[in-house]
Amino acid sequence: MRYSLLALARQAFRGNRHWQPVWRDTEPRPSYDVVIVGGGGHGLATAYYLAKQHGVRNVAVVEKGWIGSGNAGRNTTIIRSNYLLPGNEPFYERSMKLWEGLEQDLNYNAMVSQRGVLNVYHSDAQRDAFARRGNAMRLAGADAEMLDAEAVRRMLPFLDFDNARFPIKGGLLQRRGGTARHDAVVWGYARGASDRGVDIIQNCEVTRFLRDGSRIVGLNTTKGTIRCGKVGLAVAGSSSRVAKLLGLKLPIESHLLQAFVSEAIKPLIPCVVTFGAGHFYVSQSDKGGLVFGGDIDGYNSYAQRGNLPVVEDVCEGGMALMPAIGRLRLLRSWAGLVDMSMDGSPIIDRTPFNGLYLNAGWCYGGFKATPASGWCFAHLLAQDQPDPVASAFRLDRFETGHLIDEKGQGAQPNLH
Ligand SMILES: Cc1cc2nc3c(=O)[nH]c(=O)nc-3n(C[C@H](O)[C@H](O)[C@H](O)COP(=O)(O)OP(=O)(O)OC[C@H]3O[C@@H](n4cnc5c(N)ncnc54)[C@H](O)[C@@H]3O)c2cc1C
Repeated sequence: MRYSLLALARQAFRGNRHWQPVWRDTEPRPSYDVVIVGGGGHGLATAYYLAKQHGVRNVAVVEKGWIGSGNAGRNTTIIRSNYLLPGNEPFYERSMKLWEGLEQDLNYNAMVSQRGVLNVYHSDAQRDAFARRGNAMRLAGADAEMLDAEAVRRMLPFLDFDNARFPIKGGLLQRRGGTARHDAVVWGYARGASDRGVDIIQNCEVTRFLRDGSRIVGLNTTKGTIRCGKVGLAVAGSSSRVAKLLGLKLPIESHLLQAFVSEAIKPLIPCVVTFGAGHFYVSQSDKGGLVFGGDIDGYNSYAQRGNLPVVEDVCEGGMALMPAIGRLRLLRSWAGLVDMSMDGSPIIDRTPFNGLYLNAGWCYGGFKATPASGWCFAHLLAQDQPDPVASAFRLDRFETGHLIDEKGQGAQPNLH
């Protein structure tokens, strides 16, 4: 069913009783060419591009809960391509370009809003570092602008410009960055994949891999055994747990990341703003709530529930950037399980097992990567070769030392 103004009018005249389900919720068949484990944004996007770009349609996505029940439905929806390193920037810019055409491609309203992403800076040294990043972005074809304090003040007059410790001296702005509605991205990819013959199987947890020597030939799931030619793992925060079923140890730690939404207020924040002297970022949803977050909780956990010290830390960052936030009531908060890699960059690669492919290590930034991640993982699964923009995301870089350490923090996941 194609969505259009005409379709809307037609359905309205027929009492809205003939809308079809957005995707087919199916039971597993005995075998598939490819099984994607994990029905988050990345798994569903992979299935979509496998079917659309490579004609591989005998595909299943198996999800242990409901699609979008993981980080895809828990994130703070920021999309951007403001990276520094050559291993990262072209990939995230590919993603940005895919975001720009996504709604037309999927024929689905994902509420992609290019309202801009502004990183404010507080010192001359930080300004120089941001200018360097902006130049790297422009060299890779992305947009970047340096703003002085006055230009930032015109956009966001209520920030604490004269804060005694962290005065705001300007910012790095990516106007094409912004937000997208996370659930709609999941539903849109599910619809596109399902329309092309992909089976989406919910409440189906993978419990064991079936092997023939070093080749993966199938999966045991809570809905029975599924045989398959290839398996793509896209389980984000559960990557280490699922890899452990095979005795595979990944360079990934699972941590908690919390998000917060305030009561709704009139339009206040026109873009996404990040604090440069601590970890705090904020945007305003179309419903009016301020959506914000900060650092990960900093200890390993699979609990999907955060702790109070980080709530305090995030709120302190918010108060230092925009003291007016202290007048707001917090409406809700939650946590997701993020797959922190040792260098802060992702992995899209083959594994030591034939037929097993890995998509993981998205840390707290994988939502913006969803389109390019699906695109590149589908390429790898279909052609057994990495897409050039994802060629640095190798699993063996942690052995060879070719790390993509955007922040220069070393092998400390809680600092990336
Ligand atoms: C609070 C928070 C805020 C964030 N904010 C941003 C942001 O603003 N911008 C940004 O770019 N990124 C952000 N992220 C990160 C981003 O959400 C993730 O990197 C991204 O969603 C991960 O990919 P995914 O969507 O495929 O993961 P998920 O949605 O987590 O999908 C993985 C799926 O695998 C399933 N699964 C696990 N084990 C099994 C199994 N054994 N069998 C079958 N299925 C299994 C899970 O149930 C889950 O649905 C944020 C994350 C959090 C938690």
